[in-house]
Amino acid sequence: MSTRAYGVTDPISTANPTPKENLLNDSLISELKNRGSFESEQATKKRVEVLSLFQKMVQEFVYIASKNKNMSDGMARDAGGKVFTFGSYRLGVYGPGSDIDTLVVVPKHITREDFFNVFEQIIRKRPELEEIAAVPDAYVPIIKIEFDGISIDLIQATLNVPRIPIDMTLDDKNLLKNIDEKDLRSLNGTRVTDEILQLVPKPTVFKHALRCIKMWAQQRAVYGNIFGFPGGVAWAMLVARICQLYPNAVSAVIVEKFFNIYTKWNWPQPVLLKPIEDGPLQVRVWNPRLYPHDRQHRMPVITPAYPSMCATHNITSSTQKFILSELERGSEMMTQIGLGKKSWGDLFERHDFFYRYKFYLCIVVATVSTDEEHLKWSGFVESRLRQLVLKLEVTDGVELAHPYVKDFSNSYLVEDNKTEDIINAYGTLQGENFINSLKKPTAEDKEKKQIHITKLFVGLDIKISKTAGQPDGIKKLDIQYPCSEFYSLCKGWVSYNEEIHQIQIKNVKLFDLPNDVYVEGEVRPKKVTKKRKKDDKSDQLKRAKSAPVPVNSAT
Ligand code: ATP
Ligand code: MG
Repeated sequence: MSTRAYGVTDPISTANPTPKENLLNDSLISELKNRGSFESEQATKKRVEVLSLFQKMVQEFVYIASKNKNMSDGMARDAGGKVFTFGSYRLGVYGPGSDIDTLVVVPKHITREDFFNVFEQIIRKRPELEEIAAVPDAYVPIIKIEFDGISIDLIQATLNVPRIPIDMTLDDKNLLKNIDEKDLRSLNGTRVTDEILQLVPKPTVFKHALRCIKMWAQQRAVYGNIFGFPGGVAWAMLVARICQLYPNAVSAVIVEKFFNIYTKWNWPQPVLLKPIEDGPLQVRVWNPRLYPHDRQHRMPVITPAYPSMCATHNITSSTQKFILSELERGSEMMTQIGLGKKSWGDLFERHDFFYRYKFYLCIVVATVSTDEEHLKWSGFVESRLRQLVLKLEVTDGVELAHPYVKDFSNSYLVEDNKTEDIINAYGTLQGENFINSLKKPTAEDKEKKQIHITKLFVGLDIKISKTAGQPDGIKKLDIQYPCSEFYSLCKGWVSYNEEIHQIQIKNVKLFDLPNDVYVEGEVRPKKVTKKRKKDDKSDQLKRAKSAPVPVNSAT
């Protein structure tokens, strides 16, 4: 039984599980297994081996780079170097498709240039290397590789110390002194995940409960930081707090309490895993009393490692409403599962985003250039989508602007078709047919002209009140302003080039959504046309006044 106190309050209950709760827990684990949440022991063993190989490669890298700087052989060996992990691998919630998020920590004389030269060369010499892409100018500079069948993201942090011994830990906040901002950012992921794991009473209980919550959040489309929902780290902290409150519970009980507690949570009261710490840097620590900006966070979930930040600052009023309604649904499901009337499978039922709304905006982002060029442009637009949502939310008549948590991307050969024809074709069924008839590029088509297209969706819940003074009594929904603001924002991108980068916002009705938003086997909704009596004038009049809502063209 766990006795240490965790978190910012006493636990709610220290009860041990009942036989019924243990059974419920067994059924949760087998449901997660059936859904492919866990990878095989063999695959996990391979990850461990690859990581230990990388540990050796990092020491070799530090040694060679130190020798290049005229250090003695002994000093170069002693300089060390260590591999850390973060993300789902570190949290123990990775599945067969997960990458390994890896942090390479090096001593002060090793630079970022060394990382992208010396270390990259060492990696390139390995026979296991399948793909490599270095992005030295990213917000967090990164080398992405496919290595022996595993995706690995490598980032580096240079610490202001002469040696990095193999037993080094990153918990001492003084290590953050006198280091570069990029190094600080790189360290953050590992420091946060390490602390989360230290702050939960039973790591295995936490990991299984988090697997369940991640699966639920992904299935229900409430997972994704850039789109205004909690991301992996935020969901992890939310689960960790429940583990602190019920230190001896099994994972199934943690899940049940998770839904109970967060449906009743007094937002914007923050979720904290420990008291917020002060530290040695001139950086902002989350503090709503001091910073008005922090007071705007609707559902704050605060990272435990100094400097504490809000991991959910992207949540908007629409995404909050949707998250709360999904938590409510989860809570009701758990009651039913407890009564034996529903099963875990029902909790994980797929979302109905593409059936919910009458109107959708489809943001079409296109690049007539390379794949990499498109990744940068679409990445920029995605990261700004939240700004469009915020503007739509305050538009008259818009009750809810609900962004979808994934994009849909495709590439086509342009050949004789003009690029505008392709972009214009999106959003109607005939257009979709035209696009589906286009050739998709193969590996041999690398040199041919291509268009890469990414679509993002925002569902709109619209309520238009009739206004006196309007000639037809109907108020028009005007989303021209938020859309044109969004165009300006996107076209203001530093690398924007109107010759190759395109963006368009289209109105799409429920029945005209493109095929790729439906999963295989799903039946797209059909338009139901009711027969009307020809002579029923009053009925026709009613219809004219209430629906459909005219939506001004946004393009
Ligand atoms: P998966 O199992 O799919 O790999 P994950 O939780 O590891 O899930 P990743 O996308 O691999 O998710 O990201 C790992 C970590 O990297 C995140 O938890 C976050 O700390 C950091 N990260 C990823 N993308 C970004 C981003 N765009 N901005 C800031 N941090 C990011
Ligand atoms: Mg990952």
